[in-house]
Amino acid sequence: MTVRTRFAPSPTGLLHVGGARTALFNWIYAKKHGGTFVLRIEDTDHSRNTEQAKQVILDGLHWLGLDWDEGPQKGGNHGPYYQSERGAIYEEYLSRLEKGGHLYEDNGAIRFRSPREKVFVDDEICGKIEFDLTNPGTHPDLTLRRPDGSWIFHFVSVVDDIEMKISHVIRGEDHLSNTPKHIELYRALGAEPPRFAHMPLILNRDGSKMSKRDEGAALGTYPEAGYVPEAVRNYLCLLGWSPKENREIISTEEVVALFELGNINRRNAAFDLDKCFWINGQYLLSMDLARYAELAVPFLEKAGITWPTWNALEKVLSIVKPKVKLLKDLPEWVGYFFNEEFSFDEAAVAKSLTGPLAVERLSALRDAYSALAIWDLASLESALKETAAKIGVKTGELVHPARVAASGRGIGPGLYEMLEILGKQRTLARFEKGIIKALGTSA
Ligand code: GLU
Repeated sequence: MTVRTRFAPSPTGLLHVGGARTALFNWIYAKKHGGTFVLRIEDTDHSRNTEQAKQVILDGLHWLGLDWDEGPQKGGNHGPYYQSERGAIYEEYLSRLEKGGHLYEDNGAIRFRSPREKVFVDDEICGKIEFDLTNPGTHPDLTLRRPDGSWIFHFVSVVDDIEMKISHVIRGEDHLSNTPKHIELYRALGAEPPRFAHMPLILNRDGSKMSKRDEGAALGTYPEAGYVPEAVRNYLCLLGWSPKENREIISTEEVVALFELGNINRRNAAFDLDKCFWINGQYLLSMDLARYAELAVPFLEKAGITWPTWNALEKVLSIVKPKVKLLKDLPEWVGYFFNEEFSFDEAAVAKSLTGPLAVERLSALRDAYSALAIWDLASLESALKETAAKIGVKTGELVHPARVAASGRGIGPGLYEMLEILGKQRTLARFEKGIIKALGTSA
C-alpha cells in the first residue's frame, strides 16, 4: 500500500505540542514506509483564519524539521492544500450525497442522515471498537454545512482525505468518537476508509487537560527559550511511544527505524517540561561544535555580544557547552569573555570578593600568576595550588575570588580553562579590578 499521511491543523494562533507530536508521528510513519507526508490547513473557520495563525503552523513545522512533501508552499497533485480554497470540491461531494438521498435540510443547515447502524472502528492503536449509532438521541445526524454556507469539519475532512488519497489518519484520541460518523460518510460516498490510528492525549503531570497557556504548550516558545529542534523531536517522540529498551535519548533516524503504530502506548502521556529540558541539555552536550556555534550565534547577536574571531568564539563555546542547558542562557555564560565591562553578580561578590581576606588571597594569586612564563592549564593549576599551600588556605578559597574577579559570577566553566582563554594580561587586569572591588567593600 502506498502510504500517505497528513497533518491537518486548524489555525488557532498557535501550534500546540500535541499538534506538533501528531505532525511528527505522521511524518515518521511516512518516512518509514517511503510514503508521502501531506500538510493540509483546515481553515474553514473564517473568524480564526488569519495569515498569522497559518504562518505559526508553517514556522513551527519548519523549525522542528518536519518538511512536508505536499502542501502549502510546496504544492502537489492533490491541492489546493487550504480548505478555504476547496469549496468547489466540497460542493461536488455534497451533490453526490444529495443524489444518493443521504441529505436533508434542517433550518437552513444541511445534514447527513445516519444509516443508524453499529459501526466498527478497527484502530491501529486502540484496537477494535464497536460504536452503536442507532440512537439519534445520543448520536444526532451530522451537520455538514451551516445555514451561512460554511462547512463543518467532519465532512470536509473526510472529503479531503478521500481526494488526497490518505492511507493512514493518525491523530489525537479526541477524534476517536468522531471516527464512526466519518466511516458512515465514507460509505455513503462509496469510498474505502483509510486506516485510523488515534494517539493518546497529552495531559499535564497532574492529569489535567493541557491548556494553551500552560508552560511549554505552544511550540512557538521553544526556539526562543533555546531548545534545539532535534531535542524537542526526541522529547515529542517519547510522548506516547518508546523504544523497547527504556532509552530516553534517541535520534529521529532511529525512531523512524523502530517506529510502529502498534507500539504506541494506549495510556495518556504526561507532559513534562523538565524532561524536555534535560534532553535538551544532553543534545547540547554531545552536539558537534560547528552546529553548536551555528545555533548559538543568533542568541549571542541578540544580546549584542561580538567576538574578535570565529576561532575565539568556538574556544569559548567549547568550554561553556557542558554547562548550558538552554541556548537562551548562553549570553550570560559567554558575554564576559568578550567584554571588559561585564557586570558583577552581587551575591557572588558578597560571598567571595569582599573584605581583607579576599584582597589578600587574590593579591597572592595575582603575584603568582604574573610570574608565570607559560600560560596553560597545567601552570595555572599548579601555581594556584602552590599559592594556596603557601598562604595556608584551601584551593577553593582562591578559586572562588578568582572566578568572581575574572567573570563577575560565582558559577561558570572550569576556572583554569576560563583563565587560559582570557590570557595573562586580561586575567591580571581583572584580578586588579577585583582587588579594588574587594577593598572597596571591606569597610
Ligand atoms: N483540524 C482538525 C484538528 O485540528 C484535524 C483533525 C484530524 O486530524 O482529522 O483537530
